[in-house]
Amino acid sequence: MNDEKTEGIVLKAVPFEENDRILSLFSPDQGIVTLYVRGLSKKKPTLVNLTTPLCRAEFLFRKGRSNLYRFIDGTILDLHLPLRRSYRHLEYAGKMLQAILKSQMPGKNAKKLYHLLSSYLKKLSEASFPETLWASFVLKLLKHEGLLVFDETCLRCEENAASHISEGESLCEKCAALRGQYQKVVNKEEFSKRKVQGVRCKKPQDRLSQQDNNKNFHSKGLRIDTLSLMPSKSFSFSVLDWKTLRVLSHVRVFDPLLKLELPSSLVQTIEALFSLYQIES
Ligand SMILES: [Zn+2]
Repeated sequence: MNDEKTEGIVLKAVPFEENDRILSLFSPDQGIVTLYVRGLSKKKPTLVNLTTPLCRAEFLFRKGRSNLYRFIDGTILDLHLPLRRSYRHLEYAGKMLQAILKSQMPGKNAKKLYHLLSSYLKKLSEASFPETLWASFVLKLLKHEGLLVFDETCLRCEENAASHISEGESLCEKCAALRGQYQKVVNKEEFSKRKVQGVRCKKPQDRLSQQDNNKNFHSKGLRIDTLSLMPSKSFSFSVLDWKTLRVLSHVRVFDPLLKLELPSSLVQTIEALFSLYQIES
């Protein structure tokens, strides 16, 4: 028998045929797990709840040849009912689930991240401004994946206070400007090389129009590097915003976050950073 048991949080439930559902779970040991659940009906409310997004539960399932495992049984641990009392809180909980779904893979051990998601979902209903917890969650997720760190001091000169994010690194204004100049040269050379080789190279404006979902970037005048695969344009922040970003990404307790209201422009920039790294990763 290949029966296995895991704790998991339901990220997504897709109805299939008349009474079945395909679940995407996030589990601590196996990352994303996909389960096929048969026979849902109004007569089985526990099964319906168990297979609804946000539910944290223990799942018993049987592995087969494919990656779609057969659900056998489950025990609900937490339905996160307080979140369902407010649409705004529910919306940000949904964003957290989506962020995990987009960034994680099957079979990838994710104990720390699982703990992070589970604790943020638990605390989210207590937050006066749910977007603050969402912003903190996103920054911690990027940090966990090794994509982005907000350090106090510039990583290059190790001297000046950092205030820019460039290629996921914390830089001071001077080092960020130097890197920007260097990249301009590299990109120019790369562009002409591709042109010579006859490689189809989209004009920057074409590429940008494809990324219309990144409206934040356009409205804020931030540009995406059109040739290199890494998001190389630097993001600059005020001293106060940098401090806030450091709190959001390093904080170990929830208290400082529960009443904290962020400027909406900062939340938008964090979301823009997140979608940029999602697109490129
Ligand atoms: Zn520097």
